[in-house]
Amino acid sequence: FKQKTAYEILSGLVGSEMCIRDRFNPMPTRSMWKGECSAGDEWVNGQLIPYGEISLSPASCVLNYGQGIFEGLKAYHTQKDRIVLFRPNKNSARMQKSTERMCIPVMNDHYFMDAVTSTVKDNSDFIPPYGKGSLYIRPICFGVSKAIAVQAATEYVFMVFTSPVGPYFKVGSKPLHLYLSDKYHRAAPKGIGNAKAIGNYSASLYPGSMAKSKGFNDMIYVHAKNEKIIEEMGAANLFVLSDGELLTPKLGGSILDGVTRDSVITIARDILNLTVKETDIEIDRLLSADEVFCCGTAVTVTGVGKISTDEKEYIIGNGNFGEKTLSIKKKLLQIQKEEIDDPFGWIHPLV
Ligand code: PLP
Repeated sequence: FKQKTAYEILSGLVGSEMCIRDRFNPMPTRSMWKGECSAGDEWVNGQLIPYGEISLSPASCVLNYGQGIFEGLKAYHTQKDRIVLFRPNKNSARMQKSTERMCIPVMNDHYFMDAVTSTVKDNSDFIPPYGKGSLYIRPICFGVSKAIAVQAATEYVFMVFTSPVGPYFKVGSKPLHLYLSDKYHRAAPKGIGNAKAIGNYSASLYPGSMAKSKGFNDMIYVHAKNEKIIEEMGAANLFVLSDGELLTPKLGGSILDGVTRDSVITIARDILNLTVKETDIEIDRLLSADEVFCCGTAVTVTGVGKISTDEKEYIIGNGNFGEKTLSIKKKLLQIQKEEIDDPFGWIHPLV
């Protein structure tokens, strides 16, 4: 008799294993991390508590002024039969930048890693088996003290919760159809676009849902100051293969410095010997590209088959997944699942 894992029990509760594999929705797990810190102090305390609701004052800074940031990373069961994280140090570094920009006390790597690894270990039986999904890890940090005047909080909470997840886009193996529009901007240069601040995501809800209601998978945003160049999607970075070169919008204020973006650049350069440029990409170049793909922790690497503007629908390449897109995706997933050696030291095993 083999005892069922929490993942197997959850699978049963939602109907079948496919239900978890095909979803990107939060599911309850055993525990979550909670730590507290006052402005001007260090993040030192914190512990695992049962997964569940939390209470907040209606006057809390996060509810009134959006003083909150988050991170997103994944834990995988790998072919080597161990549990690993992918480049968690990059998430820790980005969290430090985001918190600084949002006037939230900055935590050190050690505290962040302790919270993340403790939460994953305590919920390790919720991690889908090798090849069947991953455990999404969501660190969040926000101001909880009360304010009526616009000002930074004096008290902060940091939490880490997890959820087993499958693919982000529901199309399965079909390339994406994206909507490109200058009607809305996600973020402005010199604003908070390069922080993982919650306000960036509320700004993208209306355009994102409008794109989805028109039948597109998601939205491509253009630069707020120069609307001729592209930026990124609501929760993923963009890459364009054009004239044999792999291009991605250069970081510069309003684009998130994606961990997957950085990994794709390295894989493309060092393993596939491609020329990679971080540069301005004009809309015309995007629409006439040989391949386009988006990338992120949630979406991994997902090919784009069509892009529509209000005027016209453009087929990218032959409308299917591009050859380079597939090679980059394959290498990234193979490294993450420990199916090939990790030449870059990206894998962080939980021992
Ligand atoms: N861009 C935005 C706006 C995002 O929210 C995300 C991820 O959540 C990304 C890009 C991709 O970043 P990463 O690869 O670190 O997940």
